[in-house]
Amino acid sequence: MPTTVTAYAATAADQPLERTTIERRDVGPHDVRIEIAYAGICHSDIHTARSEWGPAPYPLVVGHEIAGVVAEVGSQVTKHAVGDRVGVGCMVDSCRECAQCERGLEQYCLAGNTGTYAAIDRDGTVTQGGYAQQVVVTEDFVVRIPDGLALDVAAPLLCAGITTYSPLRHWKAGPGMKVAVVGMGGLGHMGVKLAHAMGAEVTVLSQSLKKQEDGLRLGADHYYATSDPTTFEHLAGSFDLILNTVSAQFDMNAYLSLLAVDGTMVLVGAPPKALPVQAFSLIPARRTLAGSTIGSIGETQEMLDFCAEHGIGAEIEVIDAAQVNEAWERVLASDVRYRFVIDTSTLA
Ligand code: NAP
Ligand code: ZN
Ligand code: ZN
Repeated sequence: MPTTVTAYAATAADQPLERTTIERRDVGPHDVRIEIAYAGICHSDIHTARSEWGPAPYPLVVGHEIAGVVAEVGSQVTKHAVGDRVGVGCMVDSCRECAQCERGLEQYCLAGNTGTYAAIDRDGTVTQGGYAQQVVVTEDFVVRIPDGLALDVAAPLLCAGITTYSPLRHWKAGPGMKVAVVGMGGLGHMGVKLAHAMGAEVTVLSQSLKKQEDGLRLGADHYYATSDPTTFEHLAGSFDLILNTVSAQFDMNAYLSLLAVDGTMVLVGAPPKALPVQAFSLIPARRTLAGSTIGSIGETQEMLDFCAEHGIGAEIEVIDAAQVNEAWERVLASDVRYRFVIDTSTLA
């Protein structure tokens, strides 16, 4: 028998989220039922629910930064037990047999990983995300939250944390490397903390200096406003790695000009519209423009362990479920310090 749980759902691209109920499937042999404690609000939730990346399947419950406690396990589950503190991020399954799944890079599954929301699950239903009381997920896509991390500050690590950790590791952020983080929102503030913990020299490039004090407190060595045109002159050719988290249109060529010879700009922010690139923004300095999506389940566990070891959690503002629409407006206004987290007990 499916279980009915309370959730907040999008019903159309231009409507506020509404309180509703959804069904969670019965726990299968390899499934884990999680009583959700906190769900982070990612800008991707908004892009998706508003059909900015393509038509969303309504009604849709978003949320892919899930932290909670295991309430029930299937008969063959070995990785998790009732009472364990666990997390679920942006995917809940993958094909498990393609070349990328075999390499342990299931986020790049050639058949497409199964998103935590708005994807078609193995049983043909549309996946529904974390703005809900419970979720049922196959055990292989559930990670352990280390004891040292509180569930509320851990929730945003499941997307914002891993999405910034993975490219920083891939491009070897560390001592001697100059890393810039563009945009200090949910992803950006985690990028600053993680790059600093990895030993890189970190610069924040934000639209204004409003968050400068916070940026320096979180581990940035330098902080510049991109609204000041002298910033681009002053920093031309400076960075080995730019982690770009901007969610809206920006001048790609201006940011590429900040890369040193052989530098790389990684896009993790995913603006819905195309961004023009000049060949000569790349050619004269052998620059690379790259992209990266989340991280594997194995790397997500590694990131959580790294965060516990370094005492890193997200900077959060905990809200009641009823405040979710207001919180979305503040995210859109770049007025988030630095991640909203829904206390899902307020759904009861
Ligand atoms: P967020 O909290 O809204 O942060 C985005 C930041 O970008 C803002 O805080 C702002 O920083 C900056 N920004 C916003 N509008 C801008 C504009 N017009 N020009 C310049 N800068 C602007 O969003 P988020 O949750 O961190 O997500 C950021 C992006 O990453 C979204 O597009 C999201 O969908 C995407 N994402 C991708 C992945 C992936 O796997 N690749 C995973 C998660 C999210 P300042 O105020 O400091 O300027
Ligand atoms: Zn996300
Ligand atoms: Zn696969």
